[in-house]
Amino acid sequence: MSQKKIKNLLIGTNNKGKLKEIRSLLPKYINIYSSSNFKLNSPKEDGNTFKENSLIKSRHFSLKSGLICLADDSGLEVDLLNKRPGIFSARWGGKMGDFNKAIKKVYRELSKVDKNWKNKKVKARFICALSISNLNKKIACVQGKVEGFISSVPKGKNGFGYDPIFIPVGKNITFGEMKPSQKYKMDHRFNAFKKIKKFL
Ligand code: IMP
Repeated sequence: MSQKKIKNLLIGTNNKGKLKEIRSLLPKYINIYSSSNFKLNSPKEDGNTFKENSLIKSRHFSLKSGLICLADDSGLEVDLLNKRPGIFSARWGGKMGDFNKAIKKVYRELSKVDKNWKNKKVKARFICALSISNLNKKIACVQGKVEGFISSVPKGKNGFGYDPIFIPVGKNITFGEMKPSQKYKMDHRFNAFKKIKKFL
């Protein structure tokens, strides 16, 4: 698909943090709609991988709206937890999507595996799969990541989700402490976006 073909694009997410970030990455000539504009409910994410779940979302929202849809599925993998929460990252926040609860669960699970984890460098990464669907048709599906470590205490009030406990490699502050403009230039979504932008 050549560049200027996509004039109207639906962002398939009801997560305000993601919507804000994806909006900032997209070229200005595209008219952006969000699934909440159409009051569309999210589909059941029953895929086994980030890529499968992003395709489930982009296909679902495209079929419901009739617009081409870009959707993301993302999450945090912690090596000491055998890559959990992974595709269950949102679900660790419970039905209300409570991020404090999700962070406490990461800490609880780490303490179960290693009581001394706070004195170690616990490797983790954020993963983001992005896909574009036009109705049933897959236009693109890519994945990006950012490597880092788990902070022993939550720090910073910026961002969303697990941002306060994630320190990217090469920095000594969490995503929660960074300005959004700094985070957006180095994170998993940005890295996935670099791979998908040629399809826009
Ligand atoms: P889903 O892709 O909607 O299933 O949810 C992904 C979940 O992963 C979010 O609800 C967050 O908990 C977490 N997550 C994804 N990307 C980020 C990020 O950039 N910062 C912090 N948490 C994130």
